[in-house]
Amino acid sequence: MGKVAINLATGSIQTEDIIVGIDLGTTNSLVAIVRKDSGEPIALRETDGLTLVPSIVHFDEYGNTSVGNTAKERLLKQPERTIYSVKRLMGKAYKDVKDHAGAFAYNVIDDDTESLVKVEIGGRFYTPIELSSYILKELKKRAEHLLKANVSRAVITVPAYFNDAQRQATRDAGRLAGLDVLRIINEPTAASLAYGIGAKHHEDRTIAVYDLGGGTFDVSILHITNGIFEVLATNGDTYLGGDDMDSALAKHWQAQLGIEAGDKTIMQLLRITAEEAKKYLSKHEKFEGTIGEKNVSITVEEFNALIKPLVDRTITACENALRDAGLTKDKIDAVVMVGGSTRVPLVQHSVKEFFGKELYNELNPDEVVALGAAVQADILAGNNKEMLLLDVTPLSLGIETMGGLMDVLIPRNSKIPNRAGRQYTTQKDGQSGMRISVFQGERDLVKDNRKLAELNLTGIPGMPAGLPKVEVTFLVDADGILKVSATELRSGVAQTIEVKPQYGLTDEEVERMLLDSLTHAKEDIGTRALVEATTEAQQMIDTTEKFIANYRESLTEEEAATTVTHMERLKEAIAAADKDLVQKRTEELNEVSRPYAERVMEGALKDAMKGKKIV
Ligand code: AMP
Repeated sequence: MGKVAINLATGSIQTEDIIVGIDLGTTNSLVAIVRKDSGEPIALRETDGLTLVPSIVHFDEYGNTSVGNTAKERLLKQPERTIYSVKRLMGKAYKDVKDHAGAFAYNVIDDDTESLVKVEIGGRFYTPIELSSYILKELKKRAEHLLKANVSRAVITVPAYFNDAQRQATRDAGRLAGLDVLRIINEPTAASLAYGIGAKHHEDRTIAVYDLGGGTFDVSILHITNGIFEVLATNGDTYLGGDDMDSALAKHWQAQLGIEAGDKTIMQLLRITAEEAKKYLSKHEKFEGTIGEKNVSITVEEFNALIKPLVDRTITACENALRDAGLTKDKIDAVVMVGGSTRVPLVQHSVKEFFGKELYNELNPDEVVALGAAVQADILAGNNKEMLLLDVTPLSLGIETMGGLMDVLIPRNSKIPNRAGRQYTTQKDGQSGMRISVFQGERDLVKDNRKLAELNLTGIPGMPAGLPKVEVTFLVDADGILKVSATELRSGVAQTIEVKPQYGLTDEEVERMLLDSLTHAKEDIGTRALVEATTEAQQMIDTTEKFIANYRESLTEEEAATTVTHMERLKEAIAAADKDLVQKRTEELNEVSRPYAERVMEGALKDAMKGKKIV
């Protein structure tokens, strides 16, 4: 399959440049790339050696922003102006987060529970998308500085449980930061790619990805076949992580030293020392330190006893994930460890014991997701010829729907093998056949795209329009062969054909088709709008005509006459191909017919109820 990279913003064809992988985390974010010389993924490192950028944005009184460690330093002094954990708000409405709104030290506004949340900072309102874009902008800036190159394209990771709205929000944040987001990939998928799991031909594996960070925990069960990563189940707790271990230890010392909870400074000191102790205990047997004037100490055994309930909760989540995936432990081939808190020995030990498998934990658990994103980026850049994921569909694949529109089932640049399906229905009563025309290309009207095949589904039993459910499935196998099948689900009538989409298309032709779609983008949007308006208008006319034929006697002369006039006027608008006029007149026809349609339907309902007793 071809590999054409095109900058959608400028329309320029790009043959080679660095695409970065970005882990946009709740607590920390980072950027990774694949080194050109060695082909190894590496996290980008500042001169101070740090790779992680805290996902924190600070706004000063004058509207200036800072991101990362500088912002983190303001967390205590100006909590209402320092935004952390914005990832928890992405794509969410206030009603989704209100139970935790108190946990944010800044102002999450609540005036409208339905729409997406906003954050108020110094009298200005920001969406989580904007706030995340500040973090992404900073990452982009740092990457450009370190790489001494322009960074305009990225692969960004999201948790496997993110829904469409959350993914879209992440994509939008990228765009706002001036990044062309080539792919949004799941964090567990990225983690396994970092270890090279799942990228080889004919590989069939089931793995668990255990991700314990600072404030969140999730476990995903993935099934990987021929380069397709399928999430079988996810489970976890979005409010469980290393921070809870710190709190547990801080509370322990607080009780030991008899400290009152009211003193903010000493509480903060307790937490900081607790985190320091926790990290130290990942490598040593005993920690000794001071809180103010007083000595404190903790051994690994004592610490393990404190955090055991937390670790047990993660193991229960693993059990639940397995159950949801319908699998037993022995079906898991590998366990990948992600997140800073997986460095805790008790965590390692418990997970290993539970799954009974060696763990993939050699890579830095803070970096593994970004590294995997970089691997995916490298594949998209066409540099990694070994990996199966290199293969993508160069052009979108779809079918013709009402009015000659292209309905895309597999978008261009989708990795192959791939499968997609969608349901369609009939337009006419008693329609027994359906023609499914398959097209390839980026234009909105099928006539501007390339026809690949046609499939006729016949023998659909007589049903009213809209009732049959025809499921059309596209399957592109590893060799780029497209198999299209159509099944009427109520009757089971089915048809299948095979097509070779790539056949006969040179890279130049693919390029031309892509460029065409850019040149005509504006015109296409207009055409699509007109076609959609016309289709709706035509349906309105059909329904109205049917209605009049059935219920003529229930309508007054005037109603019938006005309806006919309005139908004529709408047909004129359709003939004139004037989208706004078509929409206006459809609406008018609807207004005219609605009162009597409601009246007639109510009457029919009453008739139907007559003689029936309601007990
Ligand atoms: P993440 O959200 O993946 O960046 O994970 C951050 C969490 O990992 C924080 O709770 C850190 O305290 C914790 N962490 C980092 N290093 C260590 C370590 N050496 N031992 C135990 N926990 C660690």
